Amino acid sequence: MANHRMGYQRMTNFLRWVSCSFLAAAFIATGCQTNKPLAAHLPPPSFDGPRVSRDVSPSAPLAAAPSGPSAWRPQVPPRAWKYIVIHHSASPTGSMAVFDKEHRAKGWDGVGYHFVIGNGTNSGDGQVEVTPRWPIQKWGAHAKTLDNRFNEYGIGICLVGNFDSTHPSAKQLASLEKLVTYLMETYHIPPQDVIGHRDTKPTECPGRYMDVAAVRQDAVRAIASAGGKTDRPDEARVAKLELLGDVTR
Ligand SMILES: [Zn+2]
Repeated sequence: MANHRMGYQRMTNFLRWVSCSFLAAAFIATGCQTNKPLAAHLPPPSFDGPRVSRDVSPSAPLAAAPSGPSAWRPQVPPRAWKYIVIHHSASPTGSMAVFDKEHRAKGWDGVGYHFVIGNGTNSGDGQVEVTPRWPIQKWGAHAKTLDNRFNEYGIGICLVGNFDSTHPSAKQLASLEKLVTYLMETYHIPPQDVIGHRDTKPTECPGRYMDVAAVRQDAVRAIASAGGKTDRPDEARVAKLELLGDVTR
């Protein structure tokens, strides 16, 4: 057995040598015909490994841009807000810019919400975008009713996603709680007036997986743990919450 194997090995080696020699001869012949040394056709040797450009970073999901009360403070005296109305976009993707385009196409004066909270598709996951309506304290276009009170006095917040089929992300919920807490405190909005779109008219919005009651309770708890009451906020506590919000964002 051992002899057989050695014999086979020797034969294989011999054949390999013959084919290599033949190829080498062919190369040399070609080289001679062009009258150029073979090495001239080869790139210079490199021992440094592959070159990787330094400014190429791995693709990652969109990160949430910093957003907190300092970015949410309007430039003009406040409107007499009475409600916070929560919506979902009923679409898997979106952002303030996307909805702005859609709402303009309907003939509206731009995106109808005051805030949009991204889900990592067209904006960051949990990113709070402040729409152009908010800094000028303009009425909303998000919850039409006969008396129009939810558009007139309701702060419209839209979370990107279809919450009839998926859940809001943990980062979206965290941002929503922070935003609702801030708005309740700043505009003296009682918990019962933090509502879903479906509380204003027959609609599924903001979807069956959006638990508005839980958001309301979390905001009440956050205000209480910051030392406040939900019925009568004071300026010092608002300032403290703003500071906390800016630090923990
Ligand atoms: Zn809605």
